[in-house]
Amino acid sequence: MSVAAAQTVVVLGGGVGGQVAATRLMQRLGTRARVIVVERSTSFTFSPSLLWLMVGQRRPETITRDFSKLSSRGIELVRATVTEIDTEGSRVLTEDAVIHYDYLVIALGAEHDPALLPGAAEYTHHPYDLAAAIRLRDALAGFGGGRVVVAIASLPYRCPAAPYETAMLIDGYLRDHGLRDRSTIDMYTPEPLPMPVAGAFIGHSVAAELAARRIAFHPRSVPSAVSADAITVGGTDVPYEFAVVIPPHRPPAVVGSTGLAGASGWIAVDRASLRTRAANVYAIGDVTGIPLENGLMLPKAGVFAHGEAEVAAENIARRIEGNLSEASFDGHGTCFLEVGGGKAGLARGDFFASPAPAVTMQRPGRLWHAGKVGFEQYWLRRWI
Ligand SMILES: Cc1cc2nc3c(=O)[nH]c(=O)nc-3n(C[C@H](O)[C@H](O)[C@H](O)COP(=O)(O)OP(=O)(O)OC[C@H]3O[C@@H](n4cnc5c(N)ncnc54)[C@H](O)[C@@H]3O)c2cc1C
Repeated sequence: MSVAAAQTVVVLGGGVGGQVAATRLMQRLGTRARVIVVERSTSFTFSPSLLWLMVGQRRPETITRDFSKLSSRGIELVRATVTEIDTEGSRVLTEDAVIHYDYLVIALGAEHDPALLPGAAEYTHHPYDLAAAIRLRDALAGFGGGRVVVAIASLPYRCPAAPYETAMLIDGYLRDHGLRDRSTIDMYTPEPLPMPVAGAFIGHSVAAELAARRIAFHPRSVPSAVSADAITVGGTDVPYEFAVVIPPHRPPAVVGSTGLAGASGWIAVDRASLRTRAANVYAIGDVTGIPLENGLMLPKAGVFAHGEAEVAAENIARRIEGNLSEASFDGHGTCFLEVGGGKAGLARGDFFASPAPAVTMQRPGRLWHAGKVGFEQYWLRRWI
């Protein structure tokens, strides 16, 4: 009797999608597969918690986990930066190694490109990675009130809700510290409404939450430059004393080597199976560009990276087992929207609905805030 050789499945990136895909593959296949995760960082940060950290409600060590924990599940962890993906040769190159695969999952996320908004890196803050969120927290602690500007540099960016949560949490922070009466908060975005991908109902609901907190909302406003005391938006200089700018996002540079990018520059996939056009190569999460019926893209959010990872892992497991049926990602997603003051709303729906995503929002309250905290604890305990 011949015994089939174990298949090598390589997962690029150990973030939300990569962790879920690698863990599921190990659970499904055991010794029938060698599962390798290639990850450049030493530790994983649970991104939604960065917004609480920014206002002093979390410490870095409570929202961060060492990637080495993946090894305890039998996953091989390669700590390296992926420099090239050669789908013709079924191999991945890092700075000092070549890794061959039978199946590949690309879960490299999105990168920031501060150079796309001159001055942003020098003069503004953001909560979009751990080091930056710590700097924002420290700067906020020294802020004595004044003109606050929260701006979205460009589209797309990770987590449609996060910039709006940022503005409302800063509002709550300023109230708690007796600074709100001497402060103004203005929010600028290129979008026509908050979270337009989720539809007009959600957009108007979030706009109403901003208005209730005296956060002036400026849609269709594209920042073009930042100086030490003003942000240029639509050709007008908007003065500020404290500026938070969600940085421009771009696909990871290595995506260019794959030949798998679609018209958006992000990796094109079959949205049901998560297959790319290269044989045995899947892509999940923020690195993908999945067009929706309304002409926008599926948001870059952990909830979708997670759901897609489950499907891609299942499909690879079935292929290895010789089962040609395919699991499908259905585009459903749920997102808590923190509004400050210990309250959150809950948006959920079907983003693959036609002619547009069908998303509803539960009114903000303490229950959904508790749900968001519970989700954070689930993630940090269950996954890494
Ligand atoms: C402030 C903030 C709040 C958020 N809140 C929410 C929320 O409430 N709900 C929600 O659903 N989503 C939220 N998100 C979005 C969510 O974090 C991302 O969508 C999710 O992490 C995407 O998962 P991913 O696996 O695609 O990418 P990531 O989790 O970013 O993982 C990519 C991994 O690839 C690694 N990597 C990149 N390039 C290389 C390379 N060349 N070589 C080796 N490794 C590499 C990175 O180090 C990283 O670990 C939030 C994001 C932010 C920034």
